Amino acid sequence: MPDLKTADSAIWDAVCRERERQTEGLELIASENYTSRAVLEAAGTVLTNKYAEGYPGRRYYGGCEHVDTVEQLARDRVRRLFGAEHANVQPHSGSQANMAVYMTVLNPGDTILAMDLAHGGHLTHGMHLNFSGKLYRPIHYGVRPNDHRIDFDQVATLAREHRPRLIIAGASAYPREIDHAKFADVAREVGALLMVDMAHYAGLVAGGVHNSPVSCADFVTSTSHKTLRGPRSGFVLCREEHAKNLDRSVFPGIQGGPLMHIVAAKAVCFGEALRPDFPAYARQIVENARALAEVLLSGGLRLVSGGTDNHLMMCDVTAIDLSGSVAEKALDRAGITVNKNMIPYDQRKPMDPSGIRIGTAALTTRGMQADEMKRVGAWILGALRHADDEATLRRFRGEIAEFTRNFPVPGIG
Ligand SMILES: *Cc1c(COP(=O)(O)O)cnc(C)c1O
Repeated sequence: MPDLKTADSAIWDAVCRERERQTEGLELIASENYTSRAVLEAAGTVLTNKYAEGYPGRRYYGGCEHVDTVEQLARDRVRRLFGAEHANVQPHSGSQANMAVYMTVLNPGDTILAMDLAHGGHLTHGMHLNFSGKLYRPIHYGVRPNDHRIDFDQVATLAREHRPRLIIAGASAYPREIDHAKFADVAREVGALLMVDMAHYAGLVAGGVHNSPVSCADFVTSTSHKTLRGPRSGFVLCREEHAKNLDRSVFPGIQGGPLMHIVAAKAVCFGEALRPDFPAYARQIVENARALAEVLLSGGLRLVSGGTDNHLMMCDVTAIDLSGSVAEKALDRAGITVNKNMIPYDQRKPMDPSGIRIGTAALTTRGMQADEMKRVGAWILGALRHADDEATLRRFRGEIAEFTRNFPVPGIG
């Protein structure tokens, strides 16, 4: 990046340091991943210069013939990837995708039924400081205290009692496969619409290792940058009957011009996910999560629900007398990046909860497999046991920098 270096050395320097951080450490944040070089290149194109309010063939600006090609390819590919009737690829992020659906089917004050943030839901599922909690009336379901699985009796009871207009399935911190059909049954019974927010596990759906919500949900929303491994962005899928209203909600409802460079990067990502090698990546993510979970369990950590069947696990670190934030900081010093997280029925506060969330998508993209997860798990356990031993954490950091050199980051090396 020779021009950036001379024009703005402060930003160039920060980018270089971040690139180093991403290559030398073990990236275990469950919502992160590494895009391909092709996705990075598309995101860095002159398409960022173009205004394209409207949709392909119906724009409010001239000169849109090439960005029309780009957006049409993105829409066609994501529809093919998930078998959906209609796709809107303009939402800037997962939150915008959710907002677009809410604007399509809800009026202010309407009731929504979604997963509790403290049990693994997302901010946009009705958290009181989020627009979703301010504009609508959220009712929350959670997981059972004994096995930490979604409590479908509670979902049905709350749905019958509160008659929500929209039921939301999907989560940010739930380590088990979600039974979308069961949600659809409840929605049908009470006359609610169903939205599935597959932001976290879209890559697993695309790769065929998680059941698809597309046939049973009225709307499916997602990010493109988590397990799906595209640029930081979002999209919505729905049936043809909702297409026109959804498109209007995105533009002019909540957004102006789409980020066409990011739409291009999404098209590249969807193209990659359509390739025959993508299911193997998705399967490997889950295999790696299972392998890592085994190591952590055998080292004395408690896992929410006792394990995982997707790309993430929730570790209760109070089982080894740490807090989530102490654990996060200790791991950070060892070159292992995770995030602290509330666990269901947490007795501690959000800023210093009982858990950490660990995901395997990014390391899987670097080519790591079950054998490597044993080493990664040993470093995690070691760092947690030596959380206040600076010398040991520094030694781990060196070992990890050495180790990760064998697993090049796509597009960085
Ligand atoms: C990550 C996430 C989102 C929002 O994504 P952003 O792109 O950060 O706005 C929405 N829903 C769920 C369940 C998520 O995990």
